[in-house]
Amino acid sequence: MEQVKTRFAPSPTGYLHVGGARTALFSWLYARHCHGTFVLRIEDTDRERSTQPAIDAILESMQWLNLNWDEGPYYQTKRFDRYKEVIDQLIREGKAYKCYCSKERLEQMRADQMAQGLKPRYDGHCRDDHSEHSPDEPYVVRFRNPDSGVVAFDDMVKGHLEFQNSELDDFIIQRSDGTPTYNFCVVVDDYDMGITHVIRGDDHVNNTPRQINLYRALGAKEPTFGHVAMILGDDGNKLSKRHGAVSVMQYREDGYLPEALLNYLVRLGWSHGDQEIFSVQEMIELFTPEQINKSASSFNTKKLEWLNAHYMKTLPRAEVAAELKWHLARIGIDTDKVEGPNLELVVQNYCERTHTLKEMAEKVRCYFEDLGGYDPAGVKKWIKDGSVAILQDSLAVLKELSTWDAAAIDQALEGVAHKHEVGMGKVGQPLRLAMTGTPTSPGIGDTMVLVGRERCFKRIEDAIAAFSQQ
Ligand code: GLU
Repeated sequence: MEQVKTRFAPSPTGYLHVGGARTALFSWLYARHCHGTFVLRIEDTDRERSTQPAIDAILESMQWLNLNWDEGPYYQTKRFDRYKEVIDQLIREGKAYKCYCSKERLEQMRADQMAQGLKPRYDGHCRDDHSEHSPDEPYVVRFRNPDSGVVAFDDMVKGHLEFQNSELDDFIIQRSDGTPTYNFCVVVDDYDMGITHVIRGDDHVNNTPRQINLYRALGAKEPTFGHVAMILGDDGNKLSKRHGAVSVMQYREDGYLPEALLNYLVRLGWSHGDQEIFSVQEMIELFTPEQINKSASSFNTKKLEWLNAHYMKTLPRAEVAAELKWHLARIGIDTDKVEGPNLELVVQNYCERTHTLKEMAEKVRCYFEDLGGYDPAGVKKWIKDGSVAILQDSLAVLKELSTWDAAAIDQALEGVAHKHEVGMGKVGQPLRLAMTGTPTSPGIGDTMVLVGRERCFKRIEDAIAAFSQQ
């Protein structure tokens, strides 16, 4: 059986958006499903629009999503010699030619064609031009596209597709500044790199017959193509910034887990029965391009949130904790330097109480930093006449504890409630305010374990001082 080799070939003109990430995921999954090879190639020939920050953002996004590549990243700008070699070869073989047509001539031709109701296309004027040109006269190189016949291929997603050669013109493969164009480089690269399956956005489907003609001119067999329909926003329009986050790293910043985003993206345009939850391993086992939907899919943030909540609860704690560490660092808390609870314990206590890691980081900063104050509404509601006495008694019984665990703490505090003849709320809420500055936190025993013994005593003392003045 043919050894499958796929690639993801982004143009680094901006961050990696969810559409690109889904294409990358599908290509990666197919390679992994077939025990094949996955290549990353940066298509940076458009030097005006390609930037290093965009390259960095793409690599960072791929790494965060764990879409590891076996080869690359290759950079097209490092392959100019090879492109030149192929262009020269095509010219020598009469399969490509230099075109000296001026801008004015091309504009006139276009205008005439439009006036006649024809589709604008290059008229082949320079195809057989053998006249002498001065070396500094600018030219482009065009591919000599077949005049007649049909280009047909079986798309893995869209099925059988056919294009008339008469509809295609002699497209430019080298610009007047000497740089090769996308439609050309992509073919040379996919050919040189032995790519067997090209999965990409269907915005490229009209390029494919041109590219197939180029493969044939090079005496090469074209890869199998799969063109994936685009992603729409929840209002049915093409997904854009207006719909909220579109860049992969923005999803990270917003507190989503890579597993949630991958699971979300795989379902956005691919299905396996009505199953919604897929571990990465399951996706690899089950993915085939034939099950990719033909029609566009709509983004649904609620579903992504739901998946994120699921993975926050079910992934190994250490994995979620690693991501939480990143979020804490973003809000200025370096957990390697500051004193605080074990992150896996934090995740265990907060994974059901928060929907994103961003939210979790905000909620748990009180375990790593001094309190910035007490929530005024919480104080108003929970700090009453007897509260300071309850805090004092709580401090006393807690100091007596020989083990610092949630069960022992809860039991000791129940004794305090009993003594004051009040419910646990009247003990727990003032203590939560003392511990976290807010009246919401996990069970009071768990909260105090997270705060830590010495810090807990200190915080109760601070709260007694603060609330005594009320
Ligand atoms: N560089 C192209 C893009 O980012 C992709 C080309 C391809 O996959 O063939 O749209």
